[in-house]
Amino acid sequence: MSEGPDPRSAAGAPSEVGPLGPHETTVVVIGAGTMGHGIAHVCALSGYDTVLVDVDDIRVAAGLSRVKANLNKGVELGKVDAADRDAALMRLSGSSDLVTAVSGAGLVIEAVPEDLELKSDLLRRIGEAAPAGCLVASNTSSLSIAALSESAPDPKRFLGLHFFNPVHILQLVEVVHGPATSADSLAAAVTFARRLGKEPIVVKDSPGFASSRLGIILGLEAMRMVEDGVASAADIDKAMELGYRHPLGPLKLTDLVGLDVRLAIARYMHETTGSERFRPPAILERMVAEGRLGKKSGRGFYDWND
Ligand code: NAD
Repeated sequence: MSEGPDPRSAAGAPSEVGPLGPHETTVVVIGAGTMGHGIAHVCALSGYDTVLVDVDDIRVAAGLSRVKANLNKGVELGKVDAADRDAALMRLSGSSDLVTAVSGAGLVIEAVPEDLELKSDLLRRIGEAAPAGCLVASNTSSLSIAALSESAPDPKRFLGLHFFNPVHILQLVEVVHGPATSADSLAAAVTFARRLGKEPIVVKDSPGFASSRLGIILGLEAMRMVEDGVASAADIDKAMELGYRHPLGPLKLTDLVGLDVRLAIARYMHETTGSERFRPPAILERMVAEGRLGKKSGRGFYDWND
């Protein structure tokens, strides 16, 4: 049995803590993948002490080196000052020890895969280690905040903070309030998102929120069009890019998001809404089964090896 103070009681009463919890300036991001490394990047660059957590040291190191590479690229492009990059890297650390990392957090943001069981289990483990008054957020793209809040340490201090990929470039953050989220927590999350230089929108807890619900429809329909042989993936994307001024076609975007991520969202939306619009097309199921996950695996609707 471990000895020492219980981190939940050591931090003092929730009423005494600031809007981002007892350790105001420390953000812990859990999951160092596509989203987690980007969230850690913007937090560290905005002045927060940031800890990036994953299941093992190899994944943590991979996430940290992606942040470093993106910051270096920002400096090369003249978008980030070298001094700001250096300061951000000083504020950023990694850990595969969830309990220790979370025990010093003012805000915890989870960015693990889109799986209700996995996220619920993680939230319970966060609850065992997080200081009282800590704000906890999920980066889920579609899952019910109400369902997740059943496992959250304090449902009043739990909400959705939905960032967009690539996080260091895209401005939107959906702030999703669950049934029990307090007005203070919501206000703190909006302030936090603005401090990251993001544009927050406050959204009701509803499957797919304001973004994924529409975005996934476009992506799934584009996949059905590939299945039907309407046009090539590149030409379907071109239709949306040139004809509708979308910055990125729906299939290229699917490759960037990850086909596995989109499949998980489609399955969840189909199950929860019962609408056939969200049924995952066979081509998506097949490509994920074949390991064609998009940019991260080298191949999706496009070949990214070049
Ligand atoms: P990803 O697969 O790229 O990364 C997930 C990371 O979580 C992996 O590194 C994995 O090792 C780690 N992980 C798994 N279980 C863990 C645990 N118990 N503790 C610590 N780390 C753990 O996934 P992603 O694309 O970054 O998606 C993460 C979340 O963000 C999902 O909820 C997804 O729906 C959402 N999201 C994704 C995108 C996107 O474009 N990919 C956009 C917005 C939101």
